[in-house]
Amino acid sequence: MNYRHAYHAGGFTDVVKHAALTLVLRRLMEKPTPLFVLDTHAGAGRYDLLGDEASKTGEHRVGIGRVIGWAAAPKALRPYLAIVGAMNRRRAEPRWYPGSSEIVRSLLRKNDRLVAVELHPEDARALARSMATDNRVEVRKDDGYAALKAYLPPPERRGLVLIDPPFELRDEFARIVGGLKHAWRRWPTGVYMIWYPIKDRAPVAGFHDALAASGLRRVITAELLLRPDDDPDRLNGCGLAFVNLPWRLDATLSELLLALAERLDALPGGGARVATLIGE
Ligand code: SAM
Repeated sequence: MNYRHAYHAGGFTDVVKHAALTLVLRRLMEKPTPLFVLDTHAGAGRYDLLGDEASKTGEHRVGIGRVIGWAAAPKALRPYLAIVGAMNRRRAEPRWYPGSSEIVRSLLRKNDRLVAVELHPEDARALARSMATDNRVEVRKDDGYAALKAYLPPPERRGLVLIDPPFELRDEFARIVGGLKHAWRRWPTGVYMIWYPIKDRAPVAGFHDALAASGLRRVITAELLLRPDDDPDRLNGCGLAFVNLPWRLDATLSELLLALAERLDALPGGGARVATLIGE
């Protein structure tokens, strides 16, 4: 396990993922019944953008750095910006950046619950430390795919699973599809959100084909490309696959990603696209 998210925290793919995560959770929270959230690849709780790792890549400067002070940010982006802003009061430039679990934690209501799973010992320790005082959160140092079996279906019956692996393994897409099929059979009404990298189109097309052949229903994909998806050695964009995305959120997500693509200076051949991969 070489991947450390600290190098990439606050980069453009975090902005896309975390803005969408905030949007979906807030929609689910419009109903008062308690929610369960499972974050299968949680990373650390928060990241220091002035630390060695983030400073080395500077990815956050062309991610959160581009949107944090955006006066005309779309309405759908503002709750996410408010979460990052609250961690950085009185700072013109953000220093602290929330991981997915911190984003979820900041939104939890009294009776909601989060299980955050992270396999890397250091990140799992940091995550446990940052969540220690919150009894709505359980942190596990474990395999995220095993957690799909252990924690689903949740007693709350409503909620969200975020699957956000590092894609270090060649078969990560296959592992996602296998884990998702299993989870969905156990909990077909849960909302699932999967993050994936886009370098060249072929592996992504293979992933979409595998999802289409999986028997899953109600799958929507949302992608943002900064450049054309034609270079296997470069992260050109990222995508999110949703199962059971709440009603009409695809239209909101589409507007949000189009605005973000423009703000992040997407080149010709880049842009944003939200599509139904599998219908009802
Ligand atoms: N979800 C985080 C966020 O949005 O802030 C970022 C997660 S990062 C892309 C992927 C994380 O998965 C890394 O912290 C890595 O250590 C962890 N990881 C790798 N293999 C894992 C596994 N099998 N189970 C759980 N976590 C794993």
